[in-house]
Amino acid sequence: MNQTEMTPASVFEMFARINQVPRPSKHEEQMIAFLCRFAEENHLDYKVDETGNVLISKPATPGMENRPTIILQSHMDMVCEKNNDVQHDFLKDPIQTYVQDGWLHARGTTLGADDGIGCAMEMALLVDDTVKHGPIECVFTRDEETGLTGAEGMKPGFMSGQMLINLDSEDEGQIFVSCAGGCRTEAKFRFTPETTPAGLFFLKLTVKALVGGHSGDDIDKKRANANKLLARFLYDGMKKYGLRLADIQAGGLHNAIPREAEAIVAIPNEYKEQARVDWNLFAADVQEEFYVTEPSMQFLLESTDALPTVFPEEASRRIITALQAVDNGVYAMSQDIELVETSSNLASIRQTEPGLVCINSSQRSSLMSNRLNMAHTVAAAFELAGAEVEIGEGYPGWKPNPNSQLLKVAVEQYRKLFGKEPIVRGIHAGLECGLFSEKYPGLDMVSFGPTLRGVHSPDEKLEIATVDMVWRHLLAILENV
Ligand SMILES: [Zn+2]
Repeated sequence: MNQTEMTPASVFEMFARINQVPRPSKHEEQMIAFLCRFAEENHLDYKVDETGNVLISKPATPGMENRPTIILQSHMDMVCEKNNDVQHDFLKDPIQTYVQDGWLHARGTTLGADDGIGCAMEMALLVDDTVKHGPIECVFTRDEETGLTGAEGMKPGFMSGQMLINLDSEDEGQIFVSCAGGCRTEAKFRFTPETTPAGLFFLKLTVKALVGGHSGDDIDKKRANANKLLARFLYDGMKKYGLRLADIQAGGLHNAIPREAEAIVAIPNEYKEQARVDWNLFAADVQEEFYVTEPSMQFLLESTDALPTVFPEEASRRIITALQAVDNGVYAMSQDIELVETSSNLASIRQTEPGLVCINSSQRSSLMSNRLNMAHTVAAAFELAGAEVEIGEGYPGWKPNPNSQLLKVAVEQYRKLFGKEPIVRGIHAGLECGLFSEKYPGLDMVSFGPTLRGVHSPDEKLEIATVDMVWRHLLAILENV
C-alpha cells in the first residue's frame, strides 16, 4: 500500500493537509486560521471562542432536520517529540509521513494522528454531501495535550448539540464512556536542620528500576511505588533503632508512578550491621510480593560520608510516619463498569532546600465527590503529621451513563457493521469529556477512534485499516441516531 491507496481517501487527504499546518500545543494559531479558511471556502458557518476553540456547523441533510444535533469533537494540537538525529522545527515544518506494513508513520517525529486523524474525519464529513445526518457541529479544541486548557476555557453555550462524539481514543473496537477527574495534593514539612550529633552512621538507601507507568491508567496493574517501598523501610528502621532522615529525593513527575527513590539516613553506630541485615530481608520480602510485576527492581544500600546536618528527630518522625500512613493505589472500583473509580499516587518526596520537604501526590476519580474524599484522605495523613497541605483545583471526571442513547446506537451500529461486540469501557485518566460533562450537564457522550500506538513519541503510528472502520461506524451512527 502507498499513501495514495489509503481509504477513505477523503479522510487521509484531509489528514495530509492538516499535517502541513504547524500545531504544537499552545501554538495553534496557524491551525485556527486554517480551520476558519476551510469553513469559509466551503461556505460553512463557523465561530471561534476567546480560548481559540473552533466550531464549524453543517446543516442537516434534507429530511433529517428533526434529528438531535450531534457534536463531533477532536483536539487540534499535537505533542511535538522528535528523535535527536532529526532536523525538524515544529513551528514551521510539515510532518513527513510514510506507510509500512499497514501503518502510517512519521519520519522521526510524532505523527500528529493524536488527534489530527479526528480533525481529518470531521473535515471530511463537513464537505461530504453523500453522507446522511442531522445537524452537525464540528468542534476543534486547542491545547488538549498540556492541560486540557482549550476544553477548560470553553464556555457553556458555545456548543449547542445534545450528543457529543469525541474522536480522541486510540483503540478501534473500544467505545469509551467514562474518564477520571484529577487533582493534586501537596504537603510541605518545614523544620530547622540539626547539626549532626556524634555517634551516627550514614547510609544511602536506593530503590530503583521499577516499571513505573501512568499514575492513572496503570494504577491497577499492581506495580510498586518506589516512594511507598522506601517509606516502609524508613518506618521500620525508625521504630527499631531510631533511624533519622538526612536527605530524601524520591519519585518524579506528578502523573507517573515513581520508579526510583533515594534517601540518606542516619542510624546509631551500633546498629549499622543490623540495618544491613534488615535491608536485605526487606528487599527479599518486597521482591517476593512483586515477583510477577516488578522482576527487575533493585535495592541498594551504601555507606556514605556523614552529612553536616540531619532532620531533627521530631521532624523525621512526623515525615516518615505520614509517608507510611498515606493511602496509595486503587481506592475503589466503579459500580457501573470494570474500571478503577478512585485512586491516589504518591508521586514525589523531595527536600528542595535545607529544612523543607515537599511531597506531591495526585488523586483521580470518575466521581467528583470521591475525588475530593480521596484528596482529603491524603491531606489528613499529612495534616496529622503537622504539614501544610494544599489541594489543587484539578479537573472533573466523566461518570458512566447507563442510560446513554448515543451509546446504545453506537453499540448497535458497530454490531451490525462488523458482526461483533465493541468493548465498552472507561479510562482512569483525563479526557476533554470530563470538562464537557461539567459545563454541559446532561450532554450524552461517547469517545472512540482508530488504533494508534506509541502516541506522544516519534514512534507514533496509525493503523490504516482502522480509519475506514471508524469512519463507517461514525457515518452509521449519524444516519441512525
Ligand atoms: Zn489526544
